Amino acid sequence: MEAVFIPITATIEDDGFSLITDKISHNLTTSDVEIVTTGNRRIPVHSGVLASASPVLMNIMKKPVRRYRGCDSKRVIKILGVPCDAVSVFIRFLYSSSLKEYEMDEYGIHLLALSHVYMVTNLKQLCSKGVVERLTAENVVDVLQLARLCDAPDLCLRSMRLIQSQFKTVEQTEGWKFLQEHDPLLELDILQFIDDAESRKKRRRRHKREQNLYMQLSEAMDCIEHICTQGCTLVGPSNAIDNNNTKSMIVEKSKPCKAFSTCYGLQLLIRHFAVCKRRGNDKGCLRCKRMLQLLRLHSSICDQPESCRVPLCRQFKKRGEQDKKMGEDTNWKLLVRRVESAKAMSSLCQSKKNKYEGKAEGIIRIRKELGL
Ligand SMILES: [Zn+2]
Ligand SMILES: [Zn+2]
Ligand SMILES: [Zn+2]
Repeated sequence: MEAVFIPITATIEDDGFSLITDKISHNLTTSDVEIVTTGNRRIPVHSGVLASASPVLMNIMKKPVRRYRGCDSKRVIKILGVPCDAVSVFIRFLYSSSLKEYEMDEYGIHLLALSHVYMVTNLKQLCSKGVVERLTAENVVDVLQLARLCDAPDLCLRSMRLIQSQFKTVEQTEGWKFLQEHDPLLELDILQFIDDAESRKKRRRRHKREQNLYMQLSEAMDCIEHICTQGCTLVGPSNAIDNNNTKSMIVEKSKPCKAFSTCYGLQLLIRHFAVCKRRGNDKGCLRCKRMLQLLRLHSSICDQPESCRVPLCRQFKKRGEQDKKMGEDTNWKLLVRRVESAKAMSSLCQSKKNKYEGKAEGIIRIRKELGL
């Protein structure tokens, strides 16, 4: 058989020119390699095309062809262990770099294995993505095993996540039962992953709950300041906590403020605090205790105690300084820090929002001026 000379060794390092000419001319030139599949199907191919698409195949091409009885013989490459049609699709991809959806449906995992073995990077990326899209509870265990063999981390992770989210179903599959019997280490890895994911979820949830609490406290701090300086619907600044004259606390305000639900609750609390007979009791009243804690928290984050109109702010500041000398309450300090950062976050968000609103207003004004 006549061998066609194609400069194989130069193709990969080239600028792609020889690759293109190879692909264009492969119809015109005679094939010089034969791929043999499991079912003994023989696919004639061109060494130049194969070598330019796969470094592994290029290395094979570099080796001399065994010649029998001095005759020129074609190089034969066996690709076994996958369906014949999958090999055909693989070879076609090496020529055309294209793959049809139904081919991915049918041979996705085989093509992934082939692309890994022959180091065809673009096909491997395509297959990883394609197989991820076709993951089901039924096939996920097999895919995961293959993904690990083929060193496809994204596919591994997505498979793990699917097993985690549908574990009850996956547990019933043949794939899982097979895995339990034959690959206990992988089973352990999967169970570990599920466990880690669950605790990550719990941590996230707890963090969110805490974050919510700090945001609420930060809002309460804003409200206390606002009630004691501007006044809101029920309580005014002049004598926010005035035991003797409850009437003066009622300030007529035309509109409730933005954080009204928090603000309203606080105003009720302040009104209660002002008149509660059990405020100073050791056993105390829970509502008053809560009020005192909020006032103490305010004092801890207040940076202008001298001009501050929030009740007890200066007293708490003084007491705080004394406490500092006695040794610090780390839990309280932590709480204060968290509320401070929540406050900073919310004011940052607010200023961003204002900026956008300002911009939007500007645009509307300009449009009006222009008569648009
Ligand atoms: Zn208010
Ligand atoms: Zn009370
Ligand atoms: Zn203050």
